[in-house]
Amino acid sequence: MTVPTYSVETTPPAPATAPAAARAQLLNQGSVEQYRQAIADGVDRVVRRVSGVDRPGTGITPAELAPVVDRVDLDRPLGDAGAALDELEDVYLRDAVWFHHPRYLAHLNCPVVIPALLGEAVLTAVNSSLDTWDQSAGATLIERRLIDWTAQRIGLGPDADGVFTSGGSQSNLQALLLAREEACADALGPAARAELLPRLRVLTSAAGHFSVQKSAKLLGLSPDAVIAVPTDGRRRIRPSAVRDEIVRCRQAGLVVMAVVGTAGTTDFGSIDPLAELAGICAAAGVWLHVDAAYGCGLLVSPTRRHLLDGIERADSVTVDYHKSFFQPVSSSALLVRDRRVLRHATYHADYLNPARMVEQRIPNQVDKSLQTTRRFDALKLWLTLRVMGPDALGALFDEVVDRAADAWQLVSEDPRFEVVTRSQLSTVVFRYLPTGPGRELADAANLYAREALAASGLAVVAGTRVDGLHFLKFTLLNPATTVEDVGHVLDLIATHAGRYVHDRTTAELTCPVG
Ligand SMILES: *Cc1c(COP(=O)(O)O)cnc(C)c1O
Repeated sequence: MTVPTYSVETTPPAPATAPAAARAQLLNQGSVEQYRQAIADGVDRVVRRVSGVDRPGTGITPAELAPVVDRVDLDRPLGDAGAALDELEDVYLRDAVWFHHPRYLAHLNCPVVIPALLGEAVLTAVNSSLDTWDQSAGATLIERRLIDWTAQRIGLGPDADGVFTSGGSQSNLQALLLAREEACADALGPAARAELLPRLRVLTSAAGHFSVQKSAKLLGLSPDAVIAVPTDGRRRIRPSAVRDEIVRCRQAGLVVMAVVGTAGTTDFGSIDPLAELAGICAAAGVWLHVDAAYGCGLLVSPTRRHLLDGIERADSVTVDYHKSFFQPVSSSALLVRDRRVLRHATYHADYLNPARMVEQRIPNQVDKSLQTTRRFDALKLWLTLRVMGPDALGALFDEVVDRAADAWQLVSEDPRFEVVTRSQLSTVVFRYLPTGPGRELADAANLYAREALAASGLAVVAGTRVDGLHFLKFTLLNPATTVEDVGHVLDLIATHAGRYVHDRTTAELTCPVG
């Protein structure tokens, strides 16, 4: 092999020097004042918006906003943070959806606590990466303490471990990856594995989260691998149906690799009977994963921790701190009862985490994670616990659960609405019911009301389908939301839906179709 050399005649290219203005944008000793100023300006913009918003959204449409974003020429910089922030008002801040507003009642988005925002500001500036010790140092130890703390709250025992993830979907994916590998432990050799994979099944509630299906697909399972088990009247999985399904699968030559219990279904806030599921799974030798993405807030609840009884017997647990711990996105974790199963996510790269580091007991979190470079999300929860403590967080979650019970009461006593089951957490699923003529317009009227409400920006509610019919959903996660807010939003919905039904029925009277 010849080594390329410059010929004496050729002048080597002049070394490039970035302009001083570009270098000044790098955070370092020389730019700390500029950093402080830029961040303070950004915080001021948010402060102005947060103080000024009188509704959770503006109802802007993609068609209206897209041209504004498209007009920005990304190849022609503005040169300073102030100008970019001015522009940001138009492309983002003015029309953002504000979860802190008490009439944002749609999805599982919480208002966020200030210590967590402080954590976010610190972690992003320091920019630790949680893959290896040599990129993180104390950050790795802090994440590990929080994993241990969470595992202890769950009651997973002395061998527990886990890792922070980007969200519940990734936590569920990793849990099912581990369960799949455990189920395949005896399938030695590629042929045995290939024969087993299409026979693997996952049982979960009919009200379970779609990320279970998506995970099954990513894990190369059969398209019908996820079996939706029927629920009871309160939308909790029926344990007897789980037991029957395990028997049926075995008779059909199928292998149940996991049962996924849900501690807080996304729509109904229902908590599967975890202790019964644990008993069934233990007897059948099946992995129990508990998806507590939503219900994990009960881990710190001063009054409702018992609703999670049985969770301590799970093999793996998903928690989303960014749902019920009032943390900003992203903040989630996967916990496992037996730390050894995390080896299924372990790969050693010479450049990053060579195997000898395991012998040297160097804590490299990448050995447990599906990600490589990874945010120090744990810092947000750390500062939250250090400033507020767990009881205060749990009290906030308790308050929204209580508020949801009041909201359920309000809707169920209101003759304009029909309400589904009372949530164990903080959702209310209901629909406007036209009386008299126009009853058959109920589906369309509820769809219309939701869209009209969103377009007004005055409130945001969610929608879902229950037994084939369109329903509306409140998800309460904001202690600032009052029962009066709920009542006001119900009036807005009834007005929109009622007008829709009225317009449709009178239109049919005046100009009959046919
Ligand atoms: C939200 C949710 C998930 C998904 O979590 P992400 O953080 O959005 O990825 C999974 N399971 C349940 C029950 C959820 O409510």
